[in-house]
Parts: sequence; structure tokens; C-alpha cells
Amino acid sequence: MEPNAPRPRHSRQARFSGIGRDGQLRIAQARVAVVGLGALGSVSAEILARAGIGHLTIIDRDVLEESNLQRQILYSERDVAERLPKAEAARRALLEIDHEINIRALVDDLTPRNIDRVLDNIQVVVDGTDNFITRYLMNDWCVAKNIPWVYGAAVSSAGFAMTCIPGTTPCLRCVFPEPPPPEDSPNCETAGIIASASGMVAMAQAAETLKLVSGNIQSVARGLLHFDPWNGMYKLMRVERDPACPCCARGERPWLRGERGDGTVSLCGRNSIQIGAPESGLALRLEAMAARLPDVARKSAFLVEFTAEDHLITLFADGRAIVAGTSDPALARTLYARYIGA
Ligand SMILES: [Zn+2]
Repeated sequence: MEPNAPRPRHSRQARFSGIGRDGQLRIAQARVAVVGLGALGSVSAEILARAGIGHLTIIDRDVLEESNLQRQILYSERDVAERLPKAEAARRALLEIDHEINIRALVDDLTPRNIDRVLDNIQVVVDGTDNFITRYLMNDWCVAKNIPWVYGAAVSSAGFAMTCIPGTTPCLRCVFPEPPPPEDSPNCETAGIIASASGMVAMAQAAETLKLVSGNIQSVARGLLHFDPWNGMYKLMRVERDPACPCCARGERPWLRGERGDGTVSLCGRNSIQIGAPESGLALRLEAMAARLPDVARKSAFLVEFTAEDHLITLFADGRAIVAGTSDPALARTLYARYIGA
């Protein structure tokens, strides 16, 4: 059933000439996914929910920490105290803002295995991630499916945003053909971050998304938006499609095929390693697992936390685990094999 008038709460937005009544009705029917719910995704998801996006899919693999609160303004101390997964804390907070929107919240990692299912029927994908593997996976998938997506990244006092419309504007690999080696890319752990920088990127991503779903594709920013509020710099950098782009010109999809990235990743700002869910896609019986794990500190419907050999390990129901207190993937994989299983 299609509503024939915008909801009163969106009246000021519908009055804005760029959106109007028809644009607002399109927003109410829109299906948007926000991938990653940290400094970028938690902010863009909130703006999109307040704007009246009808169907929001939100997905994040991590749990909240106190140091997130400085910039992830959707969350509260209560969420941190409960050690909630970000996807669950975001679902709860967004429904408190607007209980009528449809939210599908997934405590999961976006992978080549689940991306068709997670992003099924989505019109626009918003990048709220902090890692290159997931971004290049999204780029592969969105170009293959001809779905627009909105790239975002922020570190220290600077950030970037760019809307990729497959076949029309440059894709991620037209601009950044390969992800930088980790040692060359500063992250929030090494370089820190101010909320003004990440917030600006997230706001720009939300605006780009609203243009795409409200019928204003002509207003989309054509280029790479670059913000540095600390140094007072705001600009739109010109970028061109690469006629030899491996992704949008030559059709290569190594991340989507699972040839790049093995599910073991260092989590930005966490001194932690994530071990991906096993290929079998096993669903763990957390209750039974908790009974045989050492030093269980917390059990919930979403996760079990335990300490092994001085490392706090968070095990999720899909078999993923986050090993804290190390940036060594080999050590993390060893602990995973020893305590959870190979
Ligand atoms: Zn390209």
C-alpha cells in the first residue's frame, strides 16, 4: 500500500524544493543498506532513518567499546555497558527515533558468501566500513549488479566521500586501483580521528543517498569530496572513469570471487584480529560452546566472551571471533583453533 502524503514528521524535508512531496514519497519507499556502523555508518544510518528511508538494512561485525562514543553519536554508555553488538545497539536506537521504519539488523561480516543475500533488493549501498577488503567487495558487487554505492573514509582530521554510479561515474578502482598496503594507510588507531571529520563524511554520504533515492541523480556530486575541517578545507576533486579499470571496464571481480581477503582482518582502532566464520557457515550453539570455554565473562543471544592466554576473545553465533590484545593474525588463528576449533 503506497502512502499518498508524506508523514507529518518529514514536512520540513518535503518542503525543501530539491526533494518535494514526490521525492519524500520515494524516500519512504526506498531500500538502503548501511554496511559498517562505526563513525561513518552509525551517523549516516541515523540521518537516513530520520529522513524517512522506508527500509534500512544495517550490518556490522563488531561490539561497542567506550572509545567509540567520542564519534559514534548514535550510541550511549548503556550500550557499551551491555557490550552490545553495534548492529543491535543501532537497531534499538533507530527504532527509538522512529518506530515505524523497517530495520533489518545483522550482526555479521559482509562476505562474498552472504553479500547477495544481505544486499538483495537494495537500491543504494552506503559504505560505513573501515577496511579495504569490504569496500572492494562492495565495489565489485555493486558494479556487477549495477547498483549505486557511496564510498566514505575518514582518519585524523580528514575524510573522503564519493558516489559510484556504475557505468556513469568512476568506480572505486578507477580512482584507487589497488588498496594501499596496511603499513602505508593510517587508521584511527595510529593517526586518531576527530568526530567532525567522520561526521562530515557521513553527512555527505547521507545527502548523496537521499539524492539517489528521491529522483535527483543529476544532483549527485561528480567527483571525490574531500573534507578537512581542522584545516578548513572543503573541495570536490575531479576524477575520471578509467577506460582500463579492472573492475568497471574489464569486469574483474577478485573480491567478489573471494580471491582477495581471507576473512582474517585487523580491526581498525582495536588492536584486535577478526577470524572469519568458517566456510561451512556453521551456526554455533553458543550455550554449548560457553560450557566448554575457559573464563567466560559474558554470554548473550549474540556472543560469548572469554579469556584465553590473556586475550579476550569474543565469539559470535556465526562462528566469527574477535581476538583482542594482538595485531598478529597468526597468533589469533592459533587461539581460535585451540579454543573454538579449526
Ligand atoms: Zn572503475
